[in-house]
Parts: sequence; structure tokens; C-alpha cells
Amino acid sequence: MKNVFRTALCAALWGLTITGGAGAATAYRVQSGDTLSQIAARSGLSVAQVQAANPKLKGKTSVQAGWVLTLPARPGAASTYRVRSGDNLSVIARRSGLTLTQLLRANPQYAGGKAIQVGATVRIPARSGVTSGATASRTPAAAVRSASTSGRGDTWLWPLGNYQTISSGFGERTLEGSDEMHYGVDIVAPLGTLVRAARAGQVLESRPDYARGWGWTVVIEHPDGWITRYAHLSANLVRKGENVNRGQSVGRVGNTGRSTGPHLHFGTYLRWSPRNPLGLY
Ligand SMILES: [Zn+2]
Repeated sequence: MKNVFRTALCAALWGLTITGGAGAATAYRVQSGDTLSQIAARSGLSVAQVQAANPKLKGKTSVQAGWVLTLPARPGAASTYRVRSGDNLSVIARRSGLTLTQLLRANPQYAGGKAIQVGATVRIPARSGVTSGATASRTPAAAVRSASTSGRGDTWLWPLGNYQTISSGFGERTLEGSDEMHYGVDIVAPLGTLVRAARAGQVLESRPDYARGWGWTVVIEHPDGWITRYAHLSANLVRKGENVNRGQSVGRVGNTGRSTGPHLHFGTYLRWSPRNPLGLY
């Protein structure tokens, strides 16, 4: 173990890391003399499709030799992808030029944050599908608007009072040499500190989930589609199905599951689409 991993954080949550692998999409290293439009044309894609699959190309049409680009599978045909060690659904979605929501819609068996197993088959829907495309483009904006509106009347409570040190933020990070997505923030606090519900809602899960690295975890569904997860607990103080108030104690800080020291993993999702908790405070 290198020093950097001794801080308290989730170690490879979901047990999944990004280690490459192409599947439905392929990786392409830009050669000297390449242009984006040539690369796109050779792959049967539009420039916009290549841009959508590669965040670094946002608003850009020039490429540099040496860059590795994700070339999504050609649109128009649904395909399947066999999950490899190191994959997670967000990564597969991004490589395929899809949003996580679009991928989950085509694979409802993974809705609700269920883990994917190596060797499982994931359906990669055609991105040009008119029906799903129209639905997908309409939903997120409306959902975000309603959430921020209701957020004013029902503000988010920080689950750990004055403990605000983040040992690992939301998003892509490198852990033990591999890149992975971290769908939440890790907040450092002493073992046993009470964890409070960020908002009122109903307990969706209160159980040990070692398979996915969460350890003892509580998941609360809030009335407007937001979901919060509290993980690595040393004690769960609520039961599944119970209604909880904003600020109610739901558990105690622990070090269970894939965790390298006492901390709370706090995850926020809008209809299971991961969002950065810090964007809500
Ligand atoms: Zn975490």
C-alpha cells in the first residue's frame, strides 16, 4: 500500500475500476496528421458523435497526436458488451457515447444501483433510436429543474454536522494505479459519529452490502426522485421501509466494507443518476 491510500476513503467502490478494454467502443490513439473529421469518417461516425464520447473534445475540433480517443460503436445498431474486470456502467456508457440513464433504460436489470458482474452481458442500445432519444433528452433538464426548485423549500442537511473534511471527492480518481469513478464524497469523522438524514424520505435499504464494497449502508429515497446513500457505517439505526425526518440519525460512522479508515461515504443520486453531493450545498 502506498501512503496516499492510508487516508480514509472508499477503496475501489463497486469493486470496479477503469482499466481499458474496448467492447462496443474502441480506443484510438491519434496519429500525427490526423484530423477529427478523418477519424470520425473512418469510424462511420459524425464529428459530433466522437466529441460526445470524448469530454476533452467538448467545443473543439482539433486533435493532438498521442491523444487516446474513444470511438463509440457505430450508431443505428444495438449491440451487446460483455463486462470485463474493471468496468462499471458509467464507463461503459461513456465509451458507448450514451448517458448512464440511456444505458440503464436498455438494461433495467441494473437499475437501482445493482452491481454488474464480470462476464455479464450489457445491451448497448442504438444511439440514433428516435423513441429513446426523445425521452432521454427531455427528462434530465426537467428533473434538474424540479430538484433545484424543491431544494429551496427542503434544503439539504450536511449528514455529519461539523465534520466537513473530504478525503475523496466525487468523480474520476486514481486508486492503486487505476482510474475509477467515485459516486459520492468521503467525509472523515470519528468512529461512532451520528450520521443524519440529509432530507426526509423513506428507507430503501438498511443492510450490509459487502458485495459492492459499501459495508453497512443506508439508502433513503426522497419524495422528488433524489436518493441518498450513507455507507461504511458501524451501526444502522433505521429499518427498511421506515420514514425518516430530515436530520434524523440513521447510522454511525464506521469502517465497514471497502474502506481504509473511519469515514462516511455520502452519495446523492437523482433517479439513480449519480450527482456530486457538494453541488447541493
Ligand atoms: Zn466513497
